[in-house]
Amino acid sequence: MRKKQFKAESKRLLDLMINSIYTNREIFLRELISNASDAIDKLCYISLTDQNVGMNREDFKITLTPDVEARTLTISDNGVGMTAEELEQNLGTIAKSGSKLFKDSLEDNDSDAVDIIGQFGVGFYSAFMVSDKVEIDTLSFKEGAEAVRWISEGTTEYEITPSDTRTTRGTTITLFLAEDSEEFLDEYHVRSIINKYKR
Ligand code: ADP
Repeated sequence: MRKKQFKAESKRLLDLMINSIYTNREIFLRELISNASDAIDKLCYISLTDQNVGMNREDFKITLTPDVEARTLTISDNGVGMTAEELEQNLGTIAKSGSKLFKDSLEDNDSDAVDIIGQFGVGFYSAFMVSDKVEIDTLSFKEGAEAVRWISEGTTEYEITPSDTRTTRGTTITLFLAEDSEEFLDEYHVRSIINKYKR
């Protein structure tokens, strides 16, 4: 088991996320679905030139599953997935991404966070607006990759361990919903939000 601290910048973003943009929580769905869709686009693109990938456009899918009993919402895709190194790089830091732009602009302006939210992708960390804990199980498409699990309660640290739940390439994100976010267990509510943000 490896417990790691988020980089300082990521911690700051997590704080901003959790404390200042509470009013527009539902955008986490847009962010996570858009990441899943990007991961699929990447694999689709790779499959055009790499015969080993062997996927067709129609094989790709994103599945959302609410589990009322466990109080979880999972978002699963069969895109590129991530290796342990990529998990660390992509989610332990905010090196690139809309997330960084978002954070910088929040700090540089007095603008209302809610105004800004529409203009930027706020990224994966938005999951913590609705979750007490987030688990990611992922298997990279890369040859020889092993499935890994990333777990964090969105405070200061995250943990990466081997995963035994993801056996096919792609990523499953499990959100352990906070008590005040149980509305996202309601399939119709989730469907209506997806329709709202659908481009
Ligand atoms: P952005 O999407 O703006 O880059 P995020 O914070 O949402 O920022 O995500 C950071 C990175 O994590 C992404 O750029 C991508 O490389 C990786 N990532 C996030 N979700 C997934 C996913 N479902 N499958 C594969 N990679 C992902």
